[in-house]
Amino acid sequence: MINTSQADWVHVDVMDGVFVPNISLGLPVVEAVKRHARKPLDVHLMIVQPEKYVEAFHRAGADTISVHIEACPHLHRTLELILHHDMKPGVVLNPATRVDLIEDILPMLHHVLIMSVNPGFGGQEFIPFSLDKIRQLAELRRAKGLAFKIEVDGGIAHDTVAQVVKAGAELLVAGNAVFGSGAAEKDARSLLAAARQAAGEAQG
Ligand code: ZN
Repeated sequence: MINTSQADWVHVDVMDGVFVPNISLGLPVVEAVKRHARKPLDVHLMIVQPEKYVEAFHRAGADTISVHIEACPHLHRTLELILHHDMKPGVVLNPATRVDLIEDILPMLHHVLIMSVNPGFGGQEFIPFSLDKIRQLAELRRAKGLAFKIEVDGGIAHDTVAQVVKAGAELLVAGNAVFGSGAAEKDARSLLAAARQAAGEAQG
């Protein structure tokens, strides 16, 4: 279903029950997804000490790795490790983490992932001030002449997607809005259509 859908990537949420209160899935499931999915795997590590597992997720088939700044005291070293394994690095900010904390590291990044809910569970509501963070990041990108992508994860649905795109995000992670009603392909298509319409309005 994912292979025939319009989704560009498969986003995989790895939760360890320590960094976030929930446990989701680990390496064997990522390997299994990789065997079947003909789309790049975007692996979001919600785990403590993610640097210990960068190589293992590379072997499991990850194409991009996103690590939380809150879990990485040596963020620069962790990003270098991801780059060393030929994966695209991203940094994730929890809702309470300020955008300016990653300003110096932005040139290393393929993307910045803004959490628009507190990570750990699906089906939560979008936190409105996330929009200000997306705008702030888009402004930093413009001012510094950088090309990193802005990704948003949490509460992306038909009623929030237009605002998120207009604020400057271009990578949208959707769980419940796609898989919640049992009509994944149709819901993915209409969500993407709403995103594209908002992108067109933002440009024009
Ligand atoms: Zn995620």
